[in-house]
Amino acid sequence: MRRLAPRFKAAAAAVAVVAAAVMASACLHAGTGTDTDAGTGGAQLAQAEGAQPAARAGDPLFDPSRSTVTAEGRDRGKPRPLHLHLAVGARAPFRAYLLDQPPRLVVEMEGLDLPAGPAAVQGADLLAGLRWGPGLPGWGRIIAALPGPYAVAAATITGRDGEAAAIELSLVPVGPEDFAPRADAMTALKGLPEPSELPPAVADDGRLRVVLDPGHGGFDPGAQVDGVSEAALMLQFSTELAAALNAAGIDARLTRGEDRFVPLEQRTTAARAVDADLFISLHADMLPKAQAAGATIYVWNPASNDRAAQELAARHDRDDMLAGVDLDGTDDRVARALIDLARTRTQPASEAFASHLSSELALSDIGMHRRPVQGAAFSVLKSPDIPSVLVELGFLSDPVDRANLLNPAWRAQMAGAITRAVTNWRADQAAAGTLRGVVPPAR
Ligand SMILES: [Zn+2]
Repeated sequence: MRRLAPRFKAAAAAVAVVAAAVMASACLHAGTGTDTDAGTGGAQLAQAEGAQPAARAGDPLFDPSRSTVTAEGRDRGKPRPLHLHLAVGARAPFRAYLLDQPPRLVVEMEGLDLPAGPAAVQGADLLAGLRWGPGLPGWGRIIAALPGPYAVAAATITGRDGEAAAIELSLVPVGPEDFAPRADAMTALKGLPEPSELPPAVADDGRLRVVLDPGHGGFDPGAQVDGVSEAALMLQFSTELAAALNAAGIDARLTRGEDRFVPLEQRTTAARAVDADLFISLHADMLPKAQAAGATIYVWNPASNDRAAQELAARHDRDDMLAGVDLDGTDDRVARALIDLARTRTQPASEAFASHLSSELALSDIGMHRRPVQGAAFSVLKSPDIPSVLVELGFLSDPVDRANLLNPAWRAQMAGAITRAVTNWRADQAAAGTLRGVVPPAR
């Protein structure tokens, strides 16, 4: 682990809140693209008395008999602040977020075992319901149906490593306008409102709109070598590339214009909010033992079992996991069907761009990986509705790549190659009629 997670306190309208408790052994697995439908359907309603589960040392285990729900104040006539004390036995990464329709609090913990049968939780009648069941592969999930709109004021875990631990959640009642359920690709596809902090959608002026995503940022510097951080370098390159694209008549936007942390999901949501035609995430990671050198273009492939790709996916997703952003997870089968449908259109477009880009890189004499186009389950590539690629411009762990990345002339060459690839791709896509509202360019 590169670092322990800082504890994040929810901003008032934060989509997700978490305190991540990190054990030395805890790390995020690659392949988060494996969707699961292990949602709430099979969960147990916690209403009847049940046998107390036997705790196993070392593993988190939800213990309803030692968990409580309490409310502040005595006025039963209006919504009251709630406190959930969830006894989980041991520390592990966890996250908490809100869902709407009906308002629910979802708590997920890595490796959390759950009692098989129903069991009573003291004070559960303060909630509209409390149930639990398997979540993502390897994660357990507890769902509290809320009596109305609430915000998560605090989410922490108590108990030292090896001791009995509990997740402590403080919820405060809010007005419907301040209720901030998680928004993601699913909600966008269902036409539900997007989070309010997004920039407004822009008027369509017929220009192709490309969203550039400088990897990492803020507390997540990405790869770091000799005082150079991937985050800073990618911000610089993205700015240079945006200028090159704009000069070619392409509307280029950045997911971050400064050194700040942007959750992965928010990067794709921002692209969707401006109706992006293409999303390009830009990285220059490190891989141990010279596993990689040369520019590499990744397209979405949840089935990829390439080790380097998995390692990169884990690196990229880890900070989001620690920041409490859910990388996956939906219990909506209809939404997933819509997503699959949307992807049948965007996946070929992503692959077409990757192939245009690898040709342009070859023509520009830019050193490429021996397999320049690869599949990977990077979360940032998951948008089902926007063609997306992730480009490792090079690897900071490779001395030649590092020298190139720090060389403005090389970066200009790279920006030129990407711009030509975008232009050629646009011509193809426009001819194939796959872009919305884009005027075919004069060539
Ligand atoms: Zn990276």
